[in-house]
Amino acid sequence: MKGRFCYFLFAVLGMHLFSPAMAQQKSSYVLVIHGGAGTILKKNMTPEKEAAYKASLKQALTTGYRILQSGGSSLDAVEATVKVLENDSLFNAGKGAVFTHEGRNELDAAIMNGKTRAAGAVAGVTTVKNPVSAARAVMEKSEHVMMVGPGAEKFAKEAGLEIVDPSYFRTESRWKDLQKALHEDSVAAAKSNAYTNPGKFGIKNKDYKFGTVGAVALDQQGNLAAATSTGGMTDKKYGRIGDSPIIGAGTYANNQTAAISCTGWGEYYIRNVVAYDLSALIEYKGLSVQQAGNAVIKKVGDMGGDGGLIALDKKGNMTMSFNTEGMYRGAITKDGKIEVEIYK
Ligand code: ASP
Repeated sequence: MKGRFCYFLFAVLGMHLFSPAMAQQKSSYVLVIHGGAGTILKKNMTPEKEAAYKASLKQALTTGYRILQSGGSSLDAVEATVKVLENDSLFNAGKGAVFTHEGRNELDAAIMNGKTRAAGAVAGVTTVKNPVSAARAVMEKSEHVMMVGPGAEKFAKEAGLEIVDPSYFRTESRWKDLQKALHEDSVAAAKSNAYTNPGKFGIKNKDYKFGTVGAVALDQQGNLAAATSTGGMTDKKYGRIGDSPIIGAGTYANNQTAAISCTGWGEYYIRNVVAYDLSALIEYKGLSVQQAGNAVIKKVGDMGGDGGLIALDKKGNMTMSFNTEGMYRGAITKDGKIEVEIYK
């Protein structure tokens, strides 16, 4: 009797532990990141700067990978990964964010759980050290999806997140970018009436962004998640919000389709509902993640926008599509193999 019971137990456990479905799930945990897209040319890069970017991308990937490797959730992995990049002044997210027209750092972030399609976002925050964690708090500790400005900051404080002085986000190079943009603004304004050309004035120079960060992950349980964090675009006007914190535009995740994080000229990503469009192309048209990624980037480009995205499906297939000269990007797969790239 005892022997037969042991045999039964072994058979059940064996089936469970070694079923092909399980083996496939286990073999496919993946993390993909971006650190912004734009006119990133090798000729404008010093070897030191390039090495610094690559080291930061690797550090972020390793952080998220450890979580996935130890059986942690894709949600934890994307949050932790984005936090590393937010804390790094090289990127336009958290510390090192670009400046608004008025000389402030206003931060946007979003996170989404592909299993439940729960989502959280914050926009226009100026004192939350890690906006991605505030987005997660909105998702998990409120009934809302998006909170902005002082309200979002109050909520983040109540949620126990680290609050910093706005000067924490400031870097000299981003400040210089703003001065350059303001100068270009005044030259353009002298030539024409800026307000007859709405939406273009002030962010006419598409290269005043770079460095939005994002992560998409697939965990051992087969769940997808996405997160994006940004300072937006240099010289953005009063109260401007980009695509990054808008669920379906810059960030989206659905276990049935893909996890997506975008970077680029936000206005075009909002108008094309890029992240959701990619998901819908998989859901309704049966496109692969790569085909869907290329299709939505083409739409953005055809309309005059530029940028890129990362996307990952439930089988671990990924794409890193962009129509710019470069995109800081990288991926790590189960075997711990890291790949980071910058140029086309
Ligand atoms: N998409 C961001 C925004 O428009 C900027 C970027 O990704 O570079 O706010």
